[in-house]
Amino acid sequence: MKQTIPYKIYLSEDEMPRQWYNLRADMKQKPAPLLNPATLKPLKAEDLTPIFCEELVKQELDDTTRFIEIPDEVLNFYKMYRPSPLVHATFLEKALGTPAKIFYKFEGNNTSGSHKLNSAIAQAYYAKKQGLKGVTTETGAGQWGTALSMACRYFGLDCKVFMVKCSYEQKPFRREVIRTFGASIIPSPSDTTQVGRRILKEHPGTTGSLGCAISEAVETAVTNEGYRYELGSVLNQVLLHQTIIGLETKAALDKYGIRPDILIGCTGGGSNLGGFAAPFLGEILRGEAAYKIIGAEPASCPSFTRGVFAYDYCDTGKICPLAKMYTVGSQFIPSANHAGGLRFHGMSPVLSELYHQGLFEARAYEQTSVFEAAEIFAHAEGILPAPESSHAIRAAIDEALRCRETGEEKVIVFNLSGTGNFDLYAYKQFNDGTMTDSIPSDEDIAAALRQLPKVE
Ligand SMILES: *Cc1c(COP(=O)(O)O)cnc(C)c1O
Repeated sequence: MKQTIPYKIYLSEDEMPRQWYNLRADMKQKPAPLLNPATLKPLKAEDLTPIFCEELVKQELDDTTRFIEIPDEVLNFYKMYRPSPLVHATFLEKALGTPAKIFYKFEGNNTSGSHKLNSAIAQAYYAKKQGLKGVTTETGAGQWGTALSMACRYFGLDCKVFMVKCSYEQKPFRREVIRTFGASIIPSPSDTTQVGRRILKEHPGTTGSLGCAISEAVETAVTNEGYRYELGSVLNQVLLHQTIIGLETKAALDKYGIRPDILIGCTGGGSNLGGFAAPFLGEILRGEAAYKIIGAEPASCPSFTRGVFAYDYCDTGKICPLAKMYTVGSQFIPSANHAGGLRFHGMSPVLSELYHQGLFEARAYEQTSVFEAAEIFAHAEGILPAPESSHAIRAAIDEALRCRETGEEKVIVFNLSGTGNFDLYAYKQFNDGTMTDSIPSDEDIAAALRQLPKVE
């Protein structure tokens, strides 16, 4: 049955997915296991439970259960901001003069401003169910800290957020949102942890790093009774929770008989692309369909396009497990630019394995061309996109412009992972014409890769 496609396709509450989809169940070659950083042996559940909630450890290690029930309490919370709309970007199509059909799934429609709330609420739920007092985490750009503080407030859990000191100072408004939701927020490095005190002593005046904030959050979780650590991307469990994005997208497309040709998402640690593309990657793996899938990453931190597929540490401090992933090296320091949430040296092990198998492609974009795309999109569709999401917009616009040349009416669907309402410093630089691009040299990357751990 063919119907007129509305500008915004909303699913009804009844049509909302009730299960997450575990893509690993359909992978013949499973993602490689996490390794213990001390022994380099595969991690078992009992190694992980002092750090993560029990149920989340189960999800992390489960490579076989295809569908996992979304708990009712989580579904209830999802109702506050889901289903999120799938928008037919007719204004953008017109602005580009393209015969392509462009759709975007909009995940910025909640106060945290991004898709991260989808996993934050699930992780907070399992912490509450286990009877914990609270959780700890780190935040760089601030979206994850905001999402987790909202989720913890909902379940009455304490939440301690270690925020990289330079973000803490540069993003005072994000900080206030986190405080409003009742989380305590500690600029990292801090004197509240051993590792923080050591770093402060060795590097007085340092403005911190994500790797250091992770180390502080993990130390605080394992040394405080009734606390666990939670992470907002990269992990298998996070991709699992984010499949709500892809399942809703697929249901909305199916409702109107729309078959996508091209699917696009930006990639930092891989959770929004992994969740958005999961049902479609599953169809490819099962031999049921073919799609072109594109991961869009910053040229300043090009894990897929210039990294290697190898075991590496997940943090700069080398205390976290090793993952087999596309990486530019845990000691790689991306230049201080605004691809905030995309500045991670590695990538989800699930997406890394699938990329290695050639199931999707990746492209790297420079910052100024990303903001040019953001501006085109904002003018046409009336949403100020997050700088991270604008990498996906860039890729979508490029594909649509190609269709203008060839006359092909391809269906392009991309994930708009969030809004840029807190990224005005970056927009200011773009508007002032002072924004620059910075691309690491081959030697920068080679130097970081020489420090990869030797495994086997
Ligand atoms: C954190 C973030 C990302 C990058 O993380 P992934 O895990 O790769 O999805 C992308 N977009 C927004 C808006 C974010 O907040």
